[in-house]
Amino acid sequence: MPTAIEFFKLLPKTNCKDCGQPTCLAFAMQLANQKAKIEDCPHVSGETKETLNEASAPPVATITVGVKNKIDMGGETVLYRHERRFNNPIAYAVTVSDSLDDENVLKRIDYIKGLSFNRIGMVFRADMISIRNDSNDAKRFADVCKIVSENWDNPFVLETDSVDAMKAAVDVVGSFRPLLYGAKNDNLKEMIDLAKASKCPLGIKATSLEEAAELSEKTKAEGFDDIILDLGADHIKDLLEEQTIARRAALKKKFKPFGHPLMNKVGSGEGAVVSAVISTLKYGSLVIFDDLHNYEALPLFTLRQNIYTDPQVPIQVKQDLYPINNPDEHSPVMFTTNFSLTYFTVRADIEKSKVPVWLQIVNTEGMSVLTAYAAGKFDPERVADAFEESGVLKKTDGVVIIPGLASRMSGKLQEIIGRDVIVGTNESKHIPKHLRGLLKH
Ligand code: SF4
Repeated sequence: MPTAIEFFKLLPKTNCKDCGQPTCLAFAMQLANQKAKIEDCPHVSGETKETLNEASAPPVATITVGVKNKIDMGGETVLYRHERRFNNPIAYAVTVSDSLDDENVLKRIDYIKGLSFNRIGMVFRADMISIRNDSNDAKRFADVCKIVSENWDNPFVLETDSVDAMKAAVDVVGSFRPLLYGAKNDNLKEMIDLAKASKCPLGIKATSLEEAAELSEKTKAEGFDDIILDLGADHIKDLLEEQTIARRAALKKKFKPFGHPLMNKVGSGEGAVVSAVISTLKYGSLVIFDDLHNYEALPLFTLRQNIYTDPQVPIQVKQDLYPINNPDEHSPVMFTTNFSLTYFTVRADIEKSKVPVWLQIVNTEGMSVLTAYAAGKFDPERVADAFEESGVLKKTDGVVIIPGLASRMSGKLQEIIGRDVIVGTNESKHIPKHLRGLLKH
């Protein structure tokens, strides 16, 4: 990826602001940080655009699986998260075999839907279903794919080495843009033709690092590039080694055959979870489980959340109204920022008080109260807008309690909303005592 200065050299340097940035240098910095596209500057020539686009294309290509709730895979630009950030979280798929009867296929889909957890305001779930052709019957494979497409809203994988079975399934569910997984040395041309015709991404199943590079080059030579590579590692040591080698080669040596997302199948049980952990830490974009249990999924999903949380962006909760302890039309209104840690601390202390409260969360881009207040992101107008959006002042005639650290804006807020505003505590831990004290008056 070129630096801001390298981008800047190719820009017109007129500082015309048509791109929405104050200067060409500011725009170049946005390009280098992947926060802008070269198309946003209308004054660069077609030739320069091409040069810049080529130079700024991520060394690992992105593929998209699915249409509704689609999942992007790859698109990574760094080896280590702290260098910038990782872009597209690894996806976890769980297998549905086409040897099950219809009733059990539906039960299996329900089971996979149940692999879902709510953690610090985010919902984790199994991302995909992989439909595996165990029956060796093309029609049965297509039928099961159809059942999955009718009962599962997220993307899925069609897993078969058989060109006939893949063709039968693509005829039925190709419009959902599934991942076609099963292209090997002996069926590569036919699978590429199917993927090209259906505009679906293709999973290449290699048996070694060398073969993966060879199949990737052959696919490119056929004019198709929308691929994800399974390097064929069947031991965790090989998995770690080979996925690291492939990603280093793509990023550091610009070795194009490995410039694609990586995937692997892990089976089930403890060994499978260890392989999935390795893949999550080291460059996997998709892991397919034969089976996955709740107690395995939760720690794995949590690990993924940690790895793929952008270190430059604080974890946030949604701006919304959160009723706590069953508030009614006379309950007080408290409000705070959408920094996750602030929200969960304040929420826990209100719950501890047992006093019913309407808690309004205000979007401050993930900043805590003092930082947001100092940065002008937590001002009376923004708070009043949040109240307006949630309609909280119509739900209750209770007092509004302002966080103690933002008490300076209490007068202005009172003026805007036309409701009594009292100053709350500086520290969250004092909330229970303060709320119970209010009840006595
Ligand atoms: Fe510079 Fe182009 Fe932005 Fe104008 S639109 S300021 S020329 S980058």
